[in-house]
Parts: sequence; C-alpha cells; structure tokens
Amino acid sequence: MKIRFWGTRGSIPTPGQRTVRYGGNTACVEVRDSTDHLLVLDAGTGLRELGIKLNGTSPLMVDLLLSHLHWDHIQGIPFFRPVYDPKSTLRLYGPTQHRPLRELLGLGMDDPFFPVDLDGLPVHLEIHEIESGSKRKIGPYEVSATTIFHPAPALAYRIEADGRSIVYATDTEDPFSGQPNPVIELAKNADLLIHDGQFLDSDFKAGWGHSTVATALDVAQRAKVKRLILYHHDPDRSDDALDRIGVEAQHAADAQGQGLEVIVAREGAELTV
Ligand SMILES: [Zn+2]
Ligand SMILES: [Zn+2]
Repeated sequence: MKIRFWGTRGSIPTPGQRTVRYGGNTACVEVRDSTDHLLVLDAGTGLRELGIKLNGTSPLMVDLLLSHLHWDHIQGIPFFRPVYDPKSTLRLYGPTQHRPLRELLGLGMDDPFFPVDLDGLPVHLEIHEIESGSKRKIGPYEVSATTIFHPAPALAYRIEADGRSIVYATDTEDPFSGQPNPVIELAKNADLLIHDGQFLDSDFKAGWGHSTVATALDVAQRAKVKRLILYHHDPDRSDDALDRIGVEAQHAADAQGQGLEVIVAREGAELTV
C-alpha cells in the first residue's frame, strides 16, 4: 500500500510561517493498494488539496472513512471537487451515533452555515455507519473498527490489503482508568500505526481525548508495530518543535531496542507500506 498525508494538523488549520514544513491542513490521508483503489482517511481541510490533485478524473469511486465528526475531520467534504461531479461516487463511512450519520453530517452544511446542502451535492453519495468491533470489506480493503476514548463517538481503523496493515488511530486518549487501551489490540503487529500525538507530558490535558507522544510510543511498542507516525499535531506546535519531538521520540524508541521507527507526519509526505 501507498499512503500520502494531505493534512496532519489537529483541531484547526494553522497556515503561517511557523507551520510551513509540517503543514497547516487538518486530518486527511490518502491510501492506495496495488490496484490503485482510493481510500481516504478523514475529511479535514487537506481533502481539498487531494481533490485538486485528482484533477477532474471522472467517474471516480472514493471510499472515505471518518474517524468522527469533529470539524477538523469533516470540513473538507464540501470543498472536495469530486462531490460536484454527478458521474462520481463517494461512499462515506463513520461511527454510529445517537442520530443517523447522514442527518448529523448534513447539519454542518445546512443553511446558513454553507450554501449547498449535503443532499444537494451532485455526487452519488452513500453514507454507511460502522459499529465498533465490526470487520468489513471496503473496496479491496479489509477494515476493522474499534471505539476509542474521545469526547464524541470515534473509531480507530485497521486497514489490510496486499498482505500489509495500517492502523489509523487519531483523536484517542489512553483511558487511564484501568481499562486496556483498545488501540493496542487493534494495532497488534501492524506494519504502520498512524497515532494521535497531539500532546507532550508537559501540556497534556486530561479528558480532551488526545494522546501524548509518550502514549503513542507505548501503544506502538506494546502492539509491536514496525513504524509509528505521530499525527494530529497540536495547532500551537511549530515546525521546529515538531523537529525536536521527532528526534526525542526516535531516541526514546531506540532505548527500548525493538527497532521501532518513528516519523512525524508531514503534509505531502508519501510512504510505502
Ligand atoms: Zn481532531
Ligand atoms: Zn476530535
């Protein structure tokens, strides 16, 4: 599989001089298997850039997994060019909520918040709800989902194709309440773990639903993953700060002697899994 980061920032877009290298767009990752089937992880503002790169390809079949419905994970939907193409299909998947997913997604685009309603988008739109603990085929991908600890219903996903596995666990806090962290089981022996690394121990805010870099490292080591990507960067984190976090995290991983590689997610970066 190949992946590309279109947005790595958490909470809110952060354009500006301090974030040029790691990027200011919010959560969005492109995944391709050996058949080149497009799977998108989250629809933050990075999704707009992906839509531009697709450059009018039509018809297009896009599968898009939403971890949850916070703004930084859905705001790109109305700015994703393929949604204005009646020949294309967008299949959106997200966690089951207290109200139907279609209704909740539609709220953010309702008048007067946005001029086009979700149901008014020209694309053929399918919306599917995913239960925690489920496993399903999405295109060529086998996708397993687990509920994670966050202030809104949220899922982490394990994606398998071509004999490889990627786990996407953003917006997740270690439960700390004696319960096991569900991401460890989901990520067992994965080739790649994309994990929330919003906080450091020094600025951790309990109950906000995010992990520290130390927690991300701990999960990766317990799950025995090969590569860890620190993701969902705090909006206050500058490029220089992220450089330092990357060096320190790799140093901490090396001290454990498991051969874990740590990468700080950077907008535009491509990886082969
Ligand atoms: Zn977020
Ligand atoms: Zn969130």
